[in-house]
Amino acid sequence: MTLQTAGIHHITAFAGDPQANVDFYAGVLGLRLVKKTINFDAPDVYHLYFGNEEGAPGTIITFFPFPGARRGRIGGGQVGFTTYVIPTGTLEFWKKRLRNFGISFTEAERFGEHYLQFKDNEGLQLELVEREAGAASTWEFGGVTADHAIKGFGGAVLYSVNPERTAYVLESVLGMEKIGEFAGFMRFRAAGELGNLIDLPMTAVPRGAGGAGTVHHIAWRAADFEEHELWRSAVGSTGFQPTPVIDRQYFHAVYFREEGGILFEIATDPPGFAVDEDPMHLGEELMLPDWYEDRRTQIQNGLLPIEVRDLANRNES
Ligand code: ZN
Repeated sequence: MTLQTAGIHHITAFAGDPQANVDFYAGVLGLRLVKKTINFDAPDVYHLYFGNEEGAPGTIITFFPFPGARRGRIGGGQVGFTTYVIPTGTLEFWKKRLRNFGISFTEAERFGEHYLQFKDNEGLQLELVEREAGAASTWEFGGVTADHAIKGFGGAVLYSVNPERTAYVLESVLGMEKIGEFAGFMRFRAAGELGNLIDLPMTAVPRGAGGAGTVHHIAWRAADFEEHELWRSAVGSTGFQPTPVIDRQYFHAVYFREEGGILFEIATDPPGFAVDEDPMHLGEELMLPDWYEDRRTQIQNGLLPIEVRDLANRNES
């Protein structure tokens, strides 16, 4: 049996100032801050999660914001573009919104689809595309009503230093189907409705360097803990060296680096972000895993305060 991922679970990137990060993803893009926690491997740094109303798999972008972080260089071995899906008929709304925030954008075509491409405040490359697929987000914030809201990921453009080997992993390990080639890109489709279309430039991209404004890793969905164990075995039997299963509180994770240089993770859909917070109040308090609770005061004092701010209405006043 070949396992098939439903698509992207989450994408994790580096940022600088945490408040600027919240202002961009909540204030400009209208996403919900669904979890405010720390980097479990470095508790002096936030780990911020943004997604739809529940932070469903396929909608979650996460950041490690290091205040004063040096910028990275986008390149091979990274996610090149993070693609967000917006409801059909809302592209003009988003153009106007980006202009209102002084964010410049360019427009591109791939596989017969029209993309609005822009950068976040650190230079991370993002794009918006209209699609019918994917459940609408019910989250409304800062001038983005539910009928205009980002639904989640459409997919991603992967910058590989070895596209043939990356293509092999997408098809033979992750169980995606190659569905076409267009103007130097291959397109792969995963089984889900969101985060399911992955584009890969057919020419190797020169290696990038990590830092603020670059993606650290991309995680793919495993349906449950049992399937997750199967994924780990499948990755190992293909010659990659997966990490042990790591408990990330909101999902279980296994990591491996594919030969195109990109750090891949397999992450479980359960348990999700309501495991330690009321779904009505996600992201409001600093959440720590049990093993850090006794250091809460010290950890909290070491973090810059952040708040989710309605920037659109501030601009209009
Ligand atoms: Zn991850």
